[in-house]
Amino acid sequence: MGARTGQQYIEGLRAQDRQVWLRGERVKDVTTHPGLANGVRGIAALYDMQHDPKLRDEMTYVLPTTGERVGLSFIIPRTRDELELRRTMMLHWARATCGMVGRSPDFMNVTFAAWAGAAEFFARNRPEFGPNIRRYYEYIRDNDVTLTHALINLQKSRTVSGVFNLQEGTALQVVRETDAGIIVRGARILATLGPLSDEIAIYSPRLGRMAEGHSPFALNFAIPCGTPGLKFLCRESFDLGRSHFDHPLGSRFEEMDCIVFFDDVLVPWERVFMMGDTDMVNATGVRTHSTAHSAHQNAAKNLAQCEFVLGLALLMTEALGNAHLPHSEGGLGELMLYAELMRACIRASEADAKIDEWGVMCPGLLQVEITRNLFMTAYPKMVEILQLLGSSSFLLTPSEADFEGPLAPDIERYLATDSTNARDRVKLFRLAWDVAGSAFGGRQVLYERFFASDPLSRARVLLSLYPKAEVTDRVRRFLARDDE
Ligand SMILES: Cc1cc2nc3c(=O)[nH]c(=O)nc-3n(C[C@H](O)[C@H](O)[C@H](O)COP(=O)(O)OP(=O)(O)OC[C@H]3O[C@@H](n4cnc5c(N)ncnc54)[C@H](O)[C@@H]3O)c2cc1C
Repeated sequence: MGARTGQQYIEGLRAQDRQVWLRGERVKDVTTHPGLANGVRGIAALYDMQHDPKLRDEMTYVLPTTGERVGLSFIIPRTRDELELRRTMMLHWARATCGMVGRSPDFMNVTFAAWAGAAEFFARNRPEFGPNIRRYYEYIRDNDVTLTHALINLQKSRTVSGVFNLQEGTALQVVRETDAGIIVRGARILATLGPLSDEIAIYSPRLGRMAEGHSPFALNFAIPCGTPGLKFLCRESFDLGRSHFDHPLGSRFEEMDCIVFFDDVLVPWERVFMMGDTDMVNATGVRTHSTAHSAHQNAAKNLAQCEFVLGLALLMTEALGNAHLPHSEGGLGELMLYAELMRACIRASEADAKIDEWGVMCPGLLQVEITRNLFMTAYPKMVEILQLLGSSSFLLTPSEADFEGPLAPDIERYLATDSTNARDRVKLFRLAWDVAGSAFGGRQVLYERFFASDPLSRARVLLSLYPKAEVTDRVRRFLARDDE
């Protein structure tokens, strides 16, 4: 099949009968449900970009084996040029969604590409798992499969050490093995894009420590979202069924987040990539460098989001006529700083990219990983800056219907500014509200704070990566100086 169109993606979603629950009801068809359909269309539009004649060469590449065109986010980069080509593709998708879709399909594609490149790692204790991951990667690449993932087990309490509490009855675990595969039971969070995906991947985050060497909780597998026993429970939709004017982002980019219940679900052996080995599950992201590759995808998304928020802020201050005021200049300068830091980190990670032990071109680890830590605090700050720049204008935002109603002349007269008519001002600030105030916008802030795990775990990642001796030696040498 190769790179899919949006229509093929939608047909793929319809082809699978799946259990998606939203506000107490089972969703019959995710592609037409009012809370999900616009999000589906948003993802479909990304797939259509792969077939835009102007973009095709920047979105897809030709597979030498079949001559077919497949999505560039599936490439296993072997050169710096390929890494950059992949980033260009990811940036196109990210810019198309204003950076507001964290889990566009490239997020998972780069992870599986990294794993396929490091297939030998998967084969370490169970030789059959190496070919399993390789074949699965080829399957999702050749069929342009859309994946969600759920990494976190639900916990009833938290430990001070940060070690996960794995309780019987909540955490996902293997309950038995059969000739056909493994049977798994439990719950996982938080499958963003769950109802909008074809398949779900289950693995563990880098710091997901599990107490024992061999554990029924240590898992890595992928199955279709329609697998019997699999249930997706959605939060409420932030697409409120309003026009693009009223709700510009929520009416386009609702990617949905789900709890996933596994009610004795069969995972066929060919879909098991790791099982039981705690050390391997914990080491996967670091050893295969999949975390660096997904951070690279994420950094491209962050850059698009920085650019979008900055552009928005500039237009807001232009509309309000406050761009020249000192507090505006301070806020705008800070937004420029975040955008350029993000761009610089991406460039540095590509400039310092190296071929890893699997022969894959890996972005510079430190430069790419810090983009996650940076954005956890930068994005909430960016939203705060928008709020400070916009003040009450966020609430001087009558709906599209009001422009057709009896108060329209008053709105037109009183809400115009020196540089903007009332309608354009309101349109702009409704967009700003969707970034900085609405449920959709609030969820984005929470996403940036936590999607890549909690701040403590992220700090530990940096501590483990940083070349500390370089800086401590410098201080030691200074302490050892005996000059005056
Ligand atoms: C919008 C959104 C989308 C997401 N999408 C996905 C997805 O697609 N796939 C996926 O797998 N995951 C996803 N995540 C989940 C994300 O991985 C988790 O939210 C994250 O790992 C934090 O886990 P938690 O929510 O259980 O936090 P909790 O463990 O509930 O932590 C709550 C708070 O307590 C703190 N805390 C917890 N334990 C400790 C400790 N030992 N010491 C000190 N402080 C502690 C945390 O830092 C945090 O501030 C998403 C999250 C969000 C918010």
